[in-house]
Amino acid sequence: MNKKRLLVSNIQRFSLHDGPGIRTTVFLMGCPLRCPWCANPENQRAEIQNYVKDGQEGRFGRYISTGELIEECLKDKAFYCPGGVTFSGGEPLLQMDALMPVCEGLRAEGVHLTAETSLFVSQEKLKMALARIDLFLVDVKILEESRGKEVLGGDVSIYLENLEQLMQSDKKVILRIPVIAGYTDDRENQKKVCALIGKYRNRIEKVELLEGHRLGMPKYQALGWPAGQYEEVSSEQMQEYFSAICEQGVPTELCRI
Ligand code: SF4
Repeated sequence: MNKKRLLVSNIQRFSLHDGPGIRTTVFLMGCPLRCPWCANPENQRAEIQNYVKDGQEGRFGRYISTGELIEECLKDKAFYCPGGVTFSGGEPLLQMDALMPVCEGLRAEGVHLTAETSLFVSQEKLKMALARIDLFLVDVKILEESRGKEVLGGDVSIYLENLEQLMQSDKKVILRIPVIAGYTDDRENQKKVCALIGKYRNRIEKVELLEGHRLGMPKYQALGWPAGQYEEVSSEQMQEYFSAICEQGVPTELCRI
């Protein structure tokens, strides 16, 4: 990928759920994982995607220069009080080389920066992000090695090393836990997740427990890709998990993904 340009699928203005305040969320394309419940499948591959919706052809994604992206984000600066820019995806840290000048341009304007990341990235990319991002929204999905490889297609040990690195920094951290039946909701995983939260309780601002949904389904259809199959988790089970996390002494919220 050209390092001077970024591949983005969307720049969403007035986002209220991607960090504090009113935010501009930039969706970057390319992700090392393939979560079966992914609501943004158009962002998984680091390439422009053709789709067909209601008989109409279209494309997900476009290249944007670093300068253009800074300009686009600064159009909303008046609303960032508080607020700022959130890099989401896909996995935004994969494009960290090109994101660096964007971060620097926005920081020079006093804009608060958030990254929503899986942390399944190289230590080098994380290091670049740690020097520039204020708040990290980090997913906690599956913590068992072989299951992580099988379901997500990622190396859990890299994730855990990166999480440790992040927790040793002075950056703010919010954890996001997708609860997906048959993938992340088993007791063993829940126990490991609670233990992880307990270990880092003094470093975590908040935990968001996310209930799965199927809002991404039309995108799978448009792309002609099969969507992952999973049932809804019962509200009793969500409540139980919620209570178990609250016991770790960290502020916790129940949300929709
Ligand atoms: S990490 Fe996020 S963007 Fe990547 S596949 Fe999983 S849900 Fe989708």
